Amino acid sequence: MQDPNCIFCKIVRGEIPSRKVYEDADIFAFHDIHPIAPVHFLMIPKEHVASLEQTGDVHVTALGKIMVLAGRLAAEQGADEGFRLIVNTGRVGRQEVMHVHAHILGGKEPLGPMLPRAR
Ligand code: AMP
Ligand code: ZN
Repeated sequence: MQDPNCIFCKIVRGEIPSRKVYEDADIFAFHDIHPIAPVHFLMIPKEHVASLEQTGDVHVTALGKIMVLAGRLAAEQGADEGFRLIVNTGRVGRQEVMHVHAHILGGKEPLGPMLPRAR
């Protein structure tokens, strides 16, 4: 299922342009429009699901592929010595686009800390 108003579903359908990194029957990957690292792309299930709080058995294949393919795609994009995979989820996770997406972040130098530590 797709959501007619969802920006990432529109990207999957080609109604909004994107810089594609990878596509198969279950997932789509494309560069983030506002990168915060030298390598920054998003991996999404083609099936619309708003957040990781709402996933179920039908999403196992796509979410598994995202985890398994992240390393290969990151390396192909230039992050060949490690990367970070982040899935912002819900209000507390500060998720802005309500279609599950994994951020893949990396580059040649180590990234900043995952979160600032409270003193
Ligand atoms: P978040 O929901 O906070 O995990 O992040 C949503 C991400 O989607 C942000 O990093 C945006 O820069 C990115 N984004 C929003 N619209 C687009 C778009 N049309 N193409 C590519 N990336 C986008
Ligand atoms: Zn969607």
